[in-house]
Amino acid sequence: MADQRLPFPCMADILLIEDDVAIRTALSRGLRELGHAVTSSPTALDGLRLAVEDRPDLIVLDLGLPDLDGVDMLRMLRAVSRVPVIVATARDGDAEMVPVLDAGADDYVVKPYSSAQLDARIRAVLRRSGDAPPGPLEVGGLSVDPRARVATLDGETLDLTPREFDVLHYLAARPGEVVTKRELLTEVWQLPYGGADKTVDVHLSWLRRKLGETASEPRYLHTVRGVGVKLVEPS
Ligand code: CA
Repeated sequence: MADQRLPFPCMADILLIEDDVAIRTALSRGLRELGHAVTSSPTALDGLRLAVEDRPDLIVLDLGLPDLDGVDMLRMLRAVSRVPVIVATARDGDAEMVPVLDAGADDYVVKPYSSAQLDARIRAVLRRSGDAPPGPLEVGGLSVDPRARVATLDGETLDLTPREFDVLHYLAARPGEVVTKRELLTEVWQLPYGGADKTVDVHLSWLRRKLGETASEPRYLHTVRGVGVKLVEPS
């Protein structure tokens, strides 16, 4: 049987929305010491903005915020994002928690709680959301299955290198969205501080050939000159 404590990625980008400065400071420090990257916000509205702009892996949301009711905050968040949310509440009990869970929270912790307790919840929630099968992504006749790491075009399996697959998967997850080469280098190559655009160009041209198209007559893979590339459903 697999050991559940191992080795699930323990590092996550956490957005902590908490108005109490003492709790915010202590938790930020505690979670960082446990290996997470932490951004924090003292208000719901600023937290919503960060949730959209920074796309954290998980949000820890205090229910007692000065500017918005916790349930309203969750509803607004759920309208724009499916990011896992753990709410922190001062009170326990069904009456308190049912509406919160109904509004889209994934789990909750009752104050006071330690960074270690929160970390255990964070890992459990991320493990669960990771288990939710990310089905194959479909764009037109293209299907990209991240679990099997198989991509097919019109039912034919594409013979892709791991890097080509990663690039295709990244683009297929954002159909119609222009992705910059810098973003690909950061997110696919994991080279946030450098790396040549040329590397991306070369892989894109290989990928393009395997998709049976050319830069001058694109079907799926469209270069947006000076900006980047996007994957679209052929018209
Ligand atoms: Ca509070």
